[in-house]
Amino acid sequence: MMDQDAHRQCGVCGGLPDYLKVRTGSDESFPLSVKQLIRLHLGQDADLYQCPSCNSLFRWQDLPQFYGSGNNWEEELTRLPDASAAAAWGLLELSDDSAAGTRVLQRAFEELSPEVVCEIVGRLRATRPAAFGQLVSGLVDQFIRTGDAGVVRILENYCREDSQGASAVCELLGSDPRPKSKAAEVPLLAAVCGHPENEALRLAYATEIKASDPDRALLIELQLEHRAARRRGIEPDQRRVRELVAAHGARWAGWLIPGVAQRYEFYGGFVELLEVDAAKLLSSSPYLIAQHAPIRHLRVRQAKAHVDELAGLDRFGGLVLKMLSRLVSLDVSNCELEDADIETLVRSPHLGGLRMLDISGNPTGIGALRAIARAGLPALQYVDAEMTRAPLLIHITDTDGSIRESTWTSLRATLVAEFGHRPWLDAQRKPHLDSL
Ligand SMILES: [Zn+2]
Repeated sequence: MMDQDAHRQCGVCGGLPDYLKVRTGSDESFPLSVKQLIRLHLGQDADLYQCPSCNSLFRWQDLPQFYGSGNNWEEELTRLPDASAAAAWGLLELSDDSAAGTRVLQRAFEELSPEVVCEIVGRLRATRPAAFGQLVSGLVDQFIRTGDAGVVRILENYCREDSQGASAVCELLGSDPRPKSKAAEVPLLAAVCGHPENEALRLAYATEIKASDPDRALLIELQLEHRAARRRGIEPDQRRVRELVAAHGARWAGWLIPGVAQRYEFYGGFVELLEVDAAKLLSSSPYLIAQHAPIRHLRVRQAKAHVDELAGLDRFGGLVLKMLSRLVSLDVSNCELEDADIETLVRSPHLGGLRMLDISGNPTGIGALRAIARAGLPALQYVDAEMTRAPLLIHITDTDGSIRESTWTSLRATLVAEFGHRPWLDAQRKPHLDSL
């Protein structure tokens, strides 16, 4: 490969520093030799430039910056280290019938930022479909390991535009190559995640792992007892559960969830609740999350800009929908949502299993509640509309914050007159999540 210092002698790029930041729009400009580099046209705001003489590669990025009155643009040029440049060239020049696609791609992900790899892969897909075809399996591997947003986008577009590609991707996803813990446990764990409501499967799993992980088995048994108690209206003592989760929770949550969720909670012995940024949820791997944990409760944060996507989430031919369609509670509180946002959200055909919807703390009015009443949510038991412009209940609290008494607002009577009695229009007490 290239001599480490070869580019220092290069007649074209030899005089360029390895890193250069210029504020164009003020009076700064790039040195003239930059103009001799060849732009590869991979991306709009970020790209690679090639030295025509020594084939060095430079990363170019356009970073908007706003200063006071003036509008300056910062541009950066960074010479790729030799190993990175070699990895990039390996990918750029991948032959159409290469058997080494997966290896070349792996190396690229090791040596380059995911953004650069995705830009190169995106161009291959547009210009050299056969070469791109050599990378699909490696892309799915990368997706499974990291859930990288750029990789997700590439695979999504590929699946959308190429039905054969879509079935190939689904097949690859089905043969998930994550390291398995123990051969016998995996089918049971997958069954638990695939059937979040089935407690017999969870108990079978607890029995299965009792010898290898007695604490985990204990958590499952304890939390299933607690759920039964909560459904009878009794709040169980949580001390032992808290100790177990504090000691082992991160390990039990698995390899993926702590990276995606801001918060997660164990119910019924498994991670059932995720609190996650909407953008993160949409750009990561909800499909994998749904495979990994029997998610029943979702708290979405910063949802305002993503309502359409959340409502229409149907990635990879609907595999991800498993997660939404199994939700029993959805919390979009404090997201600055308005009536129209709630309307869009509850029109989603995938939320029919919801038993609780929390829209509290949003600037919503009665329009949001009417949309909920009109939506086909047959299982809905409770809507938390506190701290909105149209609360259903007014609570009188004791000095310790506990609710002494709740009374209906006049809005509730209006809605009952319009839509008749609904369980959620008649429920005065917010159920414990775990009792749902
Ligand atoms: Zn050069």
